[in-house]
Amino acid sequence: MKLVTFQTVGDPRLGCIAGERVIDLTLAYETMLQEKGRRKARALAGVMVPPDMIDFLDGEGDALTAAVEAFEWVSGEGFAVGAVRGFDIVLPASSVRLLAPVAHPRKIICAGKNYWDAIKERGEKAPEEPKIFSKFANSVCGWDDDVIRPRMTRELGYEAELAVVIGKRCKHVPLERAYDVIAGYMTYNDITAGDLTKRDGQNTRGKGFDTFSVMGPYLTTRDEISDPQVLGVRLSVNGRVLQDSSTCHLVFDVPRLVSFCSEVFTLEPGDVIATGSPRGLAKDYDPPAFLQPGDLMETEIEGLGSCRNRIVEEV
Ligand code: MG
Repeated sequence: MKLVTFQTVGDPRLGCIAGERVIDLTLAYETMLQEKGRRKARALAGVMVPPDMIDFLDGEGDALTAAVEAFEWVSGEGFAVGAVRGFDIVLPASSVRLLAPVAHPRKIICAGKNYWDAIKERGEKAPEEPKIFSKFANSVCGWDDDVIRPRMTRELGYEAELAVVIGKRCKHVPLERAYDVIAGYMTYNDITAGDLTKRDGQNTRGKGFDTFSVMGPYLTTRDEISDPQVLGVRLSVNGRVLQDSSTCHLVFDVPRLVSFCSEVFTLEPGDVIATGSPRGLAKDYDPPAFLQPGDLMETEIEGLGSCRNRIVEEV
């Protein structure tokens, strides 16, 4: 499933993509229950398929099973746009706003120096264990939201990355069980003010500004990605391709990163682990390809969709 957080009017809702349509999963489940003559359908739907992504992921397998059941029920109804039994369950994708799939993750953990091609290009040595740092929920930015260039920086960089979304509360996850705790994957961009990370000697400020965690447009569930280590990673600015690599170049692969992070933190549903970025960073071009206000940046991980973000100046 391609899970989304979407908005029409009112609060954000949980949905999934079906071609050019978005299915409201909570409402679909409620209507399906009503159809089956169940009482308290709305309350039950709110518990089984809650409209908030983190609440939904907290429900682990049961919530996903219920969502699949609702999806199949809508599919049996032929995915008619508009009212199913009088409710707006199936919406044209063009009529809704897709927000960041996980709007307020409890953690955003990022790996640095994690691509062989980038390490070789710079003549560096690979780290002996994963190098991780954190970003905060304020940095979350939707797939087509503007990315703000802060007044503090003139060296704004991009980092196209595969992101893992955790689906189970867990600690000390052994390598062979790492996939079990993954809900799915997203396209991610670890926006970086390179002059500030250099000046500070660490990442909290230079990678922590608002809109510096681009993610989306959807969260692809783990069952749809048989191997996250074979996905193309691409980034272009105004149509010029600046990063074109593959997750096959990861130094520490997805299970290793998840297992490693779980040794440090209790991982929780909705936590995001960004896996690092391949060669082709802005600072490595001559002249450097730093992002400028007005630029249109496109970030894509194969099979996980593209984010298209305009760069704007902070006012
Ligand atoms: Mg990065």
